[in-house]
Amino acid sequence: MSAQTSQQTVKSMDKIVALCRRRGFLFQSSEIYGGLNGFWDYGPMGVELKRNIKQAWWHDMVTSHNELLTPPGAPGPYAMVGVDTTIIMHPQVWKVSGHYDLFHDMMVDCRETKRRYRYDQVVGRWVQYGGQRIFVTTDEEGPQTEQDLLQRALKFFKLRSKNAEELQWDGPVQPLKCVQDFSVVLGPDAKSLGTLTQPREFNLMFKTYVGALAGEENVAFLRPETAQGIFVNFKNVLDSTRVKIPFGIAQIGKSFRNEITPRYFTFRSREFEQMEIEFFCHPKESQQWYKYWRDRRFQWYVSLGLDSQRLRLREHGAEELSHYSTGTADIEYAFPFLPPGKFGELEGIAHRGDFDLRSHMEGKLDPNTRPLQVELGPDGKPRWRGSGKDLTYRDEVTGERYVPHVVEPSAGADRAALAFLCEAYDEDQAPDEKGNPQNRVVMRFHPRLAPIKVAVFPLVKKEGMVEIARDIYGQLKKHANVFYDEKGAIGRRYRRQDEVGTPFCITVDGQTLEDRTVTIRDRDTLRQWRVKIDDCWSEIEKHLQPTH
Ligand code: ATP
Repeated sequence: MSAQTSQQTVKSMDKIVALCRRRGFLFQSSEIYGGLNGFWDYGPMGVELKRNIKQAWWHDMVTSHNELLTPPGAPGPYAMVGVDTTIIMHPQVWKVSGHYDLFHDMMVDCRETKRRYRYDQVVGRWVQYGGQRIFVTTDEEGPQTEQDLLQRALKFFKLRSKNAEELQWDGPVQPLKCVQDFSVVLGPDAKSLGTLTQPREFNLMFKTYVGALAGEENVAFLRPETAQGIFVNFKNVLDSTRVKIPFGIAQIGKSFRNEITPRYFTFRSREFEQMEIEFFCHPKESQQWYKYWRDRRFQWYVSLGLDSQRLRLREHGAEELSHYSTGTADIEYAFPFLPPGKFGELEGIAHRGDFDLRSHMEGKLDPNTRPLQVELGPDGKPRWRGSGKDLTYRDEVTGERYVPHVVEPSAGADRAALAFLCEAYDEDQAPDEKGNPQNRVVMRFHPRLAPIKVAVFPLVKKEGMVEIARDIYGQLKKHANVFYDEKGAIGRRYRRQDEVGTPFCITVDGQTLEDRTVTIRDRDTLRQWRVKIDDCWSEIEKHLQPTH
């Protein structure tokens, strides 16, 4: 008997968050002290999920990549290598990359509530009552935005819900940016008008000090992206390996951003992990490589089970592009916490031209961005100068020397984990031991990503079955993360595994004692079939292979 259709499952964020906590995927950081906003811990299930995502990425992008072949859609063969660089780097890196001067968000403060908001996230609507027209706001657009704005407007004008029709709304929900006069703005949590300050810049880099002295000359930053660690090692990688252009350098590691308003569970955290590739190529081929990586990265998510209906590839318009980029696309997912039709970024793929390598050579930033304040260092030289090192590439065959162009696929491991969690969540009915339908929550992870690959149960805690089940458990443990459970009704044991997304359950029953076969149950189809004990691993292993 197969599971009943679950097309109708509403992916409620509250339920997903509750499951993550209950079953050990995610906890608030420092929870026993009340938590720390924007920081999250992965529990025993979550750590496996996230590690599987990172391993799948590293395997598919780096170690299993064959540099002798031309992959479909690529202009030719290429090489891939990896690095693991430090979180704290020379502060000059951030001056030259532009982060020191330009990596900021605009924030507004509320003088009444002392709360702080990201300027671009505050949205609102014009509303009029009794001759007074105000712009009522809320912090960030969500599924409930219009309802929130209605409640806030009713409260401000001291009206009851039944008088809602007396409010005259004017135009759609729009960003605060569209409003010039803040004196008529009702801040997201304020009771009176005009309490929001004018927007100000806020640099997102965490500052720290290296060494014993906390003076300005010892200031350093926690990296806000892993990419710069790759750029500054470009020459080291070239000199220490035999890679030739085109090639990519990959890195997985922690990044830190002092986000003004961390939110949506792990989506916007202050400490998170990135999986980044800097792909170096000849300027003439860079557009082809950009298209290759954009499509390849999109397919990667699809191959691991993200429904392409909820996933989209969005090319940036000319007005959205960085000054150095001739193409940028975001891979976005329709997270359930966003309003219908809205998508959140999982990964950005950017054509970065020669901006990064050239900046690290020459220290030049485009004058269009903003005039740099030329600060002098202790040696009397401008602090934003480049390394002065030659980061050009010489083609040994043609003799041509050039600054390579870069295509950068930059993904977030935590956002990917959140998307896979949201996508996997499902509710349906599965029959219990007596064949009666029982409601169940099932996490339909791709088997490669599932925290536990297989669970092993003796049907009953009877002599013979327990020993065999423990033995199978021991054998399978050599290959994968396996779970053993002998307590409680078998239906409940299955459902507990469904809830953490274990794709297969092996049960040792009476027949096993006679013919040394066991049943394997498939989480999604609920199909059960018998295999010989010795064939268990090969039966499961084939589902754990990459599908692209
Ligand atoms: P956003 O616009 O959502 O802040 P971004 O465009 O600044 O993201 P990038 O600088 O392109 O993000 O970073 C690359 C990837 O790193 C993002 O696609 C995302 O997956 C991840 N990432 C960035 N900021 C965060 C964060 N605060 N929390 C979790 N992941 C993040």
